[in-house]
Amino acid sequence: MIDAGMDVARLNLSQTSLERALERYHRVRGAAEAARVPLGILVDLPGPKIRLGAFEGAAVIEGGSLIRLTPGDGKSTAEAFTVNYPNLLTDLRLGDRLTLGDGSILLEIDHIDADAFIARVIFGGTLQGRPGVHIPSDRLTLNSPTDQDLRLLDAFVAVGVDMVALSFVRSAHDIRRVGLEPAPRGPLVVAKIETRAAIENLDGIIAASGAVMIARGDLGSECSIEDLPHHQKEIITRCVALGRPAITATQMLESMISAPSPTRAEASDIANAVFDGTSAIMLSAETAIGIDPVNVVSTMARIARRADQAFDYDGWASSLRKAQLQEPTQVDAAVTDVMTMATWRAATDIGVKAIVCISRSGFTVRAIARFRPQIQILGFSPEERTVRQLSLSWGATPLLIDAIDDMESTVQRALRSARDGGYIKPGDLVAVLAGSSATAGMTDTLRMLRCP
Ligand code: PEP
Repeated sequence: MIDAGMDVARLNLSQTSLERALERYHRVRGAAEAARVPLGILVDLPGPKIRLGAFEGAAVIEGGSLIRLTPGDGKSTAEAFTVNYPNLLTDLRLGDRLTLGDGSILLEIDHIDADAFIARVIFGGTLQGRPGVHIPSDRLTLNSPTDQDLRLLDAFVAVGVDMVALSFVRSAHDIRRVGLEPAPRGPLVVAKIETRAAIENLDGIIAASGAVMIARGDLGSECSIEDLPHHQKEIITRCVALGRPAITATQMLESMISAPSPTRAEASDIANAVFDGTSAIMLSAETAIGIDPVNVVSTMARIARRADQAFDYDGWASSLRKAQLQEPTQVDAAVTDVMTMATWRAATDIGVKAIVCISRSGFTVRAIARFRPQIQILGFSPEERTVRQLSLSWGATPLLIDAIDDMESTVQRALRSARDGGYIKPGDLVAVLAGSSATAGMTDTLRMLRCP
């Protein structure tokens, strides 16, 4: 999968035990080191992620039938589901609708029978494994992150994980509750947008997080399905404007769980996510349980690469300039906006061969990537974790530099390293972009230099 184009591996902790996830984490790290690529690892904390107890084999759920729902962790059958949500019987009401398996099966609570809800199947289908259950988020009394999330997080912070995704966040407060050190001292925090409350508090959540995931599975159950593509566009636009990578996720190549090639609609969905400006696209079940994960990754990479060729780069940068430069309220943000815009102009008008960014936290790389310049962005950082975090950013080639000390010597070392790596040639004009102070948060230096 690394050879086929995977930049980041997500470990979904709602699907596996901590021990198995840690074992996989080390296996993925080993594979990335062997391949000598800065692969990022993202652990996805389940939050109050609700699942059915496991089915033995595939269970056919008939439309119109009645299903018994009880809280617990035991096995599920086609007639009786266990749901790992202890507050099931108190939080839900008659008439509430539950979707299973990212929306394929719909149930409505019909009546109560002693210690169980009896639900009618509105749309049937086939279930296997431990399908996710979507309960409308305004019914849930469990908050994200849960105590279990914080325990899982500790274990992954201890091994140096690059990114952590929080499920079912509703406000910036949920992000702050994880109490992590800001990246790169801590992992990059990815807020999953999958509740109605998160849509309402979008700007605050983006500002408090390091990146955002449009978790279309649960979000598609929370909002009207016809609104989902519009939420996707809006979330991506807001994230990119604020220099936060946006990940578009779920069902991108769903049919390839069992087929060797995608549907036409899936190919268009990937291309349209690229046209929307997404920084990254994600696979879930396609690679977790699909018949040919490598084929899925290479298919996705091919479609994205082709869409990149047709992207409206000029239109994107001009609309971003308008979005960015309206009434800047914070001086640091305004300086970064102006400097990165000047870099984009210089890169586009003078035709430099590379934009070389010197960045401890990756901030400067993400700030220039917002403009989607058609020139390679070489992101140098002395922090290995930053280099791996940059694998999520649009268009960036993350590179390790031994240290950032005095700016002149650091720039010269970066240029020599870019030249030795074959990214630029002697005499090439390059734009060098950096923050002059060690404390990241502002990009205030632009120099135009020739490669030695
Ligand atoms: C989603 O709901 O779309 C999502 C990405 O989350 P998960 O895979 O944990 O269900």
